[in-house]
Amino acid sequence: RSTLLDVEDLRLHFPIRTGFLRRTTGHVRAVDGLTFAISEGETLGLVGESGCGKTSTGRCIVRSHDPTGGRILYRENGSPAVDLAQLAGPELKPYRRAVRMIFQDPHSSLNPRMTLRDIIGEPLRAHGVASGSELEDRVGELLRDVGLRPEYMSRYPHAFSGGERQRVGIARALSLDPRLVVADEAVSALDVSVRAQILNLLQDLQAEHQLTYLFISHDLSVVEYLCDRVAVMYVGKIVELADTATLYARPRHPYTEALLSAVPKPDPRTRDRRERIVLSGDVADPSDPPSGCYFHPRCRYAKPVCAEEQPQLRDVGDGTTVACHFAEELTLRGVADGASTV
Ligand code: SF4
Repeated sequence: RSTLLDVEDLRLHFPIRTGFLRRTTGHVRAVDGLTFAISEGETLGLVGESGCGKTSTGRCIVRSHDPTGGRILYRENGSPAVDLAQLAGPELKPYRRAVRMIFQDPHSSLNPRMTLRDIIGEPLRAHGVASGSELEDRVGELLRDVGLRPEYMSRYPHAFSGGERQRVGIARALSLDPRLVVADEAVSALDVSVRAQILNLLQDLQAEHQLTYLFISHDLSVVEYLCDRVAVMYVGKIVELADTATLYARPRHPYTEALLSAVPKPDPRTRDRRERIVLSGDVADPSDPPSGCYFHPRCRYAKPVCAEEQPQLRDVGDGTTVACHFAEELTLRGVADGASTV
């Protein structure tokens, strides 16, 4: 698989302004030096607790936030890489068509005063792709693609269930025939019963349209079901990146181990022998992170060096990269194959 997107040392730091003069007194490091690549056709999961920088990363990639450092390189069909920082205004338009986002809450992300025709057709109009009857045909086709009837295009979002509204959000994201779709907690607001249907729809659409996904979620069961590889984030940084089966069977970072210990068992009638690791303390403050390894105040394996030296993300074999001083020495617990449930 060829690389579609290269993210190099990506940073998004927000200034903290205080006092009458709004002087900058510090920075929130929402994204703090992320490096990863996404290959054509893969689904990369981005996981971590809320506030760890997952959504900010997604927003930098779709360009609704301008990063404050690092680079995002985009290449399509083997063409030379384009550095997004070098593009401005209309030069970014082809990229904005190629990289689209699905939002978390289908209740608030659809304008209640717009019909489905306008909601799904708006990107087509804004990018000058279609208008009039051509636009209407395309909207009908998109509704069919996501399992809704074309006759629904004159209706408003309130007439639909949460799952149906998320189908509309997906149709809107697909309207410009994108290459990469950033799905930000796309099934988190849905009932468990419709979650699997939407995940299956995303898989079918991926196969049909050769899509690549960046799938942002705090739900490790869903990520295991859908993703080829997983990046685990903690306080703006990736602490572990591996293919899904390897990460779930053999985590190499203590934070990943703790997250996996909370994955629900598939059959509640069977006894779960896995011990739930309850992390002490809160997630570190991204405006004032701890010294050394950001995870050390909560890590049950921490040693003195962990408070002094920040571990760098490094290759430990099996296609896994991890940021822990003791990744080779620790024997951590994962979950057995298929142990999680959507
Ligand atoms: Fe824990 Fe130390 Fe590894 Fe950080 S570097 S995860 S504190 S063992």
